[in-house]
Amino acid sequence: MSEISTIGFIGLGNMGVPMAANLVRAGYDVIAFDLDPARAQTFATDHAARATTDLAELGRSADAVITMLPTGKEVREVLLTAQAGALAAHLKPEACVIDMSSADPVGTRALGQDLAARKIALVDAPVSGGVPRARDGSLAIMIGGDAEAVAKVKPLLSNMGQKLFEVGGLGCGHAMKALNNFLAATSFAAACEAVAIGRRFGLDPAAMTDVINVSTGRSFASENLIKQHVLSGAFGTGFALGLLAKDVGIAADLAEQIGMDAPVGQLIRDMWAEARDALGVDQDHTRAASHWERRAARQAAE
Ligand code: NAD
Repeated sequence: MSEISTIGFIGLGNMGVPMAANLVRAGYDVIAFDLDPARAQTFATDHAARATTDLAELGRSADAVITMLPTGKEVREVLLTAQAGALAAHLKPEACVIDMSSADPVGTRALGQDLAARKIALVDAPVSGGVPRARDGSLAIMIGGDAEAVAKVKPLLSNMGQKLFEVGGLGCGHAMKALNNFLAATSFAAACEAVAIGRRFGLDPAAMTDVINVSTGRSFASENLIKQHVLSGAFGTGFALGLLAKDVGIAADLAEQIGMDAPVGQLIRDMWAEARDALGVDQDHTRAASHWERRAARQAAE
């Protein structure tokens, strides 16, 4: 397979911008595309890259395409069914597509088959670490796909992440990511519930968090989210409620698709879906804490 020098980067959102910026810094020629052309243009202006509104042009130029989109649905649309011209029809035969979005692994396998019919390799490489680690290039990256395609794209991925894990065949990266986020969403919901119960009983939430963080109940949520984003009222992680609700839905659906009983998954999926429906998809995911606490207070008053 030929070397990668030109990368089409699709999805210049909260994560896409810092990730693509690291590729520019590493010397790659990056062509940016976003449904919102202003986002791609701003990225190009700020980072001395190129922007395009033409997927066909991007396809003809790119050695590899990275998608960093909300869900697998948009990834499929861009590649196969976009009204502006499906990207896959214009890609070079040896081009490789790397989907770094957090997508549904069953859909990823179906997309892989559709692309393989056009001799295009697909690798799934979702990330963990959020916006701060996207900025400093230290994301964890969970890679699934055919060994030859994975070997080809690993050098480029290493500019965006420090911990690269090859977790299996196509779709395994996306399954790994959804299951990780299911755990993160569960520990956040549990930490919020513990703090809300403690507050109502008379404990100080900040003091509770200090105790938890040096005790066995600590988690990423207790160490990085409760004081910094919930108690402070900042609610500014840059990770949208709709996206986390989507991830826990993927994990719970995956269990159902393979016939596994997952009662915790179902409960957590429902809790996050309820918060998303009440607050809206674009709110910071940490605002779910306020929704759950208000709901609990209403129920206690009834
Ligand atoms: P975002 O909503 O900030 O960005 C998504 C971008 O995709 C937007 O710029 C949007 O205009 C663009 N877009 C949407 N539909 C499109 C289409 N059809 N064609 C082209 N562009 C389109 O989302 P984000 O926070 O950057 O997250 C991207 C992915 O990464 C999601 O799957 C999310 O679950 C995952 N993720 C996010 C975080 C985080 O902390 N934000 C962390 C890890 C993983």
